[in-house]
Amino acid sequence: MSEFDLIKRYFSRHKRSDRHDILQSIGDDCAVTMIESNQRLAITTDTLVSGTHFLPDISPADLAYKAVAVNLSDLAAMGAKPMWASLALTLPAVNHDWLSTFSQSLFSILDQYQVALIGGDTTKGHLSITLTAQGVLPASKGLFRHQAKVGDAVYVSGFLGDSAAGLDILLHHTAQDDTQRYLVKRHLRPTPRVELGQQLLDYSHCAIDISDGLLADLGHILERSQCSAEIDLDKLPLSAALQACYSLENAEQFALTGGEDYELCFTVPEQQCAEMEKRLTELGIPFHHIGRITDNVASQITLIKRGKTVSLPNHIGFDHFK
Ligand code: ADP
Ligand code: MG
Repeated sequence: MSEFDLIKRYFSRHKRSDRHDILQSIGDDCAVTMIESNQRLAITTDTLVSGTHFLPDISPADLAYKAVAVNLSDLAAMGAKPMWASLALTLPAVNHDWLSTFSQSLFSILDQYQVALIGGDTTKGHLSITLTAQGVLPASKGLFRHQAKVGDAVYVSGFLGDSAAGLDILLHHTAQDDTQRYLVKRHLRPTPRVELGQQLLDYSHCAIDISDGLLADLGHILERSQCSAEIDLDKLPLSAALQACYSLENAEQFALTGGEDYELCFTVPEQQCAEMEKRLTELGIPFHHIGRITDNVASQITLIKRGKTVSLPNHIGFDHFK
């Protein structure tokens, strides 16, 4: 099978008549799309490499899901509405069962978020997937890392630490029961907080998605915004599943430093908190208020437990080159 047959069979679909924003999709040298004059483009790329970002025996369905989810999570963290994606796929060989499952799962999550696949590249080599996604932002809005302000409340969505626990279970034992299977699923199928990101545009100016652990990612906000934060460990959202499978100490460690939860961490001016909480509650989007931004340019995180300061864990996040 030629490269072109492969693209046609697995990655190009008939033009969808409901997408007037796409002038040229897969099949030409470039895709061509349109945005409205009052919109801005948000663009992100993420690569998943076998052995680094996923276990070599991962199912193609989980892999396709994750490649899309991590990119959508970045768009969510800007408040952008996801629109288009392109896929650079490197494969060791053509395996039809693998490709068929991969492409079905890919289109399933893309359709769920109304994202159109508009191009890509297909090459031979060690298994690796690079997805580029574009979304739109209303002009003059957006959630930027440099926009946290002293006095803002710090929130996170969902629960933290489940994904790291799920990976721990995958690496060290097979999941024994529904609780462990739930944690594994949170690792393999994280929820990109796409709706939350767009809702936050009305209340917040600053967010990040938690890919490397809360401390590391909140740290990026603090550095870019030149401020510090106090985090109340007693308010850290730990799921019932995480607490059932791990000691409190391990659960907190996973929540603070484990990566790949893909929840959002965001800061909200005090006068907006009540309105925002009301809106998110109405929409059924889970959130937790965990601390506040403080006036210290050193970009420090102070952890508080039962009213007392406790020390930070030594190792605070994933870095490819450390
Ligand atoms: P070029 O040689 O111009 O780079 P290619 O031969 O790589 O074009 O690709 C042909 C068309 O198929 C292009 O429109 C490209 O965007 C698309 N394409 C290639 N690989 C993929 C893929 N894995 N998924 C989606 N579209 C793809
Ligand atoms: Mg090409």
